[in-house]
Amino acid sequence: MANAKPQTPLGLFDTDGLIAEEDLAIRDTVRRFVGDKIKPHLADWYESASIPARDLAKELGSLGVLGMHLDGYGCAGTTSTAYGLACMELEAGDSGLRSLVSVQGSLAMFAIWKHGSEEQKQEWLPRMAAGEAIGCFGLTEPDFGSDPAGMRTRARKDGSDWVLNGTKMWITNGSVADVAVVWAQTDDRIRGFVVPTDSHGFSAPEITRKMSLRASVTSELVLDNVRLPESAMLPGAAGLSGPLSCLNEARFGIVFGALGAARDCLETAIAYTQERLIFNKSLAAYQVTQIKLADMTLELGKGMLLALQLARLKDEGVLRPEQVSLGKLNNVREAIAIARECRTLLGAAGITLEYPIMRHANNLESVLTYEGTSEVHQLVIGQALTGQSAFR
Ligand SMILES: Cc1cc2nc3c(=O)[nH]c(=O)nc-3n(C[C@H](O)[C@H](O)[C@H](O)COP(=O)(O)OP(=O)(O)OC[C@H]3O[C@@H](n4cnc5c(N)ncnc54)[C@H](O)[C@@H]3O)c2cc1C
Repeated sequence: MANAKPQTPLGLFDTDGLIAEEDLAIRDTVRRFVGDKIKPHLADWYESASIPARDLAKELGSLGVLGMHLDGYGCAGTTSTAYGLACMELEAGDSGLRSLVSVQGSLAMFAIWKHGSEEQKQEWLPRMAAGEAIGCFGLTEPDFGSDPAGMRTRARKDGSDWVLNGTKMWITNGSVADVAVVWAQTDDRIRGFVVPTDSHGFSAPEITRKMSLRASVTSELVLDNVRLPESAMLPGAAGLSGPLSCLNEARFGIVFGALGAARDCLETAIAYTQERLIFNKSLAAYQVTQIKLADMTLELGKGMLLALQLARLKDEGVLRPEQVSLGKLNNVREAIAIARECRTLLGAAGITLEYPIMRHANNLESVLTYEGTSEVHQLVIGQALTGQSAFR
């Protein structure tokens, strides 16, 4: 059979036909930004484990992706589909870049947008949308990750003030943040607090020696008698449903984002195998290679169809948390499997930073763990199917 013109993995599924023109235009803008401004620097940022977070935040703010799916307060008010597609393009660059945007928009900004007072919204959201202020979201503690209800960070009332004490761990953007949304146990229930990071008693030492998400800032948050006015509490969030509502937003972004990393791996592997001659023949021309590429393409396309269905439900306002779990569990799990399989196709070259594959694979280890581990999402789905909680 004559050689046909190669198609792209997602081109085979014609998924663009399921997406509105305006959303495709946003996707293409973000793709160009990542290709021109981000990809040339990623290997260096990853190797040196340092990113120009402040400059990046401003550029991302100008691009309009910070809190893009929120309405008002300088946010773009796009569809959830457009937000998902933007996450996909950002993570096709690096999961660290998408993490910066997810934490800013879906965790810190969303918490204030959804649960904050009008005063808190006016103070923080326009600057955060513009990338002039960076936010972080402190839920996890050293001993409480999957089980945040056990958190030890406490907020006690002292007159009309709140006084916060405790330690948060693994907090994205922590050391570069201007504002931290911190969740703490009160005498009543778990509450959220908007903490300016220049508050007396607040510090955010960076966590170093990471092997994953190196192009992302990860920190501890230490709250040592941090005194805040009464108005620092998020009035609309009482109990664990407050932080969980934010996590659901960020998880939705990951459903698409992980596919971006997988797509970048697959496209890199296809290009590499076309060029690489083995036993005098293109590696892409071997059946073993084509079976691998076909199987990975199927998983990528199935993940994309799942993501688009979840986005459709979210745009209709009917997306349920257990449905987000379906997407996060499947798409991150398949993305990491694709990254590992693509690495085999590159042989030794696959372990270097000359190609993005090992970087993506390492990043996806974090993505597999944060925003609910795979096991936690399996338990969410299991509970939805059986009506029985197996968490404890
Ligand atoms: C790079 C990075 C960035 C992060 N950024 C943030 C951030 O910005 N803000 C934030 O608050 N947190 C952040 N996190 C923390 C992240 O959300 C937690 O790591 C995650 O929730 C898991 O918690 P843990 O690491 O304590 O693991 P653990 O909860 O200790 O889990 C260990 C293992 O036990 C399993 N397990 C847990 N519960 C059960 C159960 N009921 N049954 C069976 N198995 C179970 C888990 O699936 C896992 O395999 C980040 C983490 C990383 C790695």
